[in-house]
Amino acid sequence: MECCGCRIGINKEYNFYKVGDDFYCENCVEEDYITYYSVCGEHYEEDEVEAYNGVSDLIKRINMNIEYRKRRIEYCQKQEKNEFNKSEILYNQDKIKELEKELEELKDWESD
Ligand SMILES: [Zn+2]
Repeated sequence: MECCGCRIGINKEYNFYKVGDDFYCENCVEEDYITYYSVCGEHYEEDEVEAYNGVSDLIKRINMNIEYRKRRIEYCQKQEKNEFNKSEILYNQDKIKELEKELEELKDWESD
């Protein structure tokens, strides 16, 4: 049997993997671990959950996000004026407004 990845024959005495109808040799398969979060009994994948080390960490990251978007806008303003750059500027301006609103809402918590 030929490996679907490297196309080398799989020795019949060796370990192999089967994915659907496809066979793979040991060299082509790596075991990987994914972190899942269980939030009040619901399962979420790693990219759906953000972990923060206190409210100051969240505020710091929001400010970094705002700075990044401001630089993005500056960059787009220096580029030629086309539809893509215009919509990129508007998109980032909207995001900055959202982030600033989020910062505003965190003020009470921060000063607790
Ligand atoms: Zn292989």
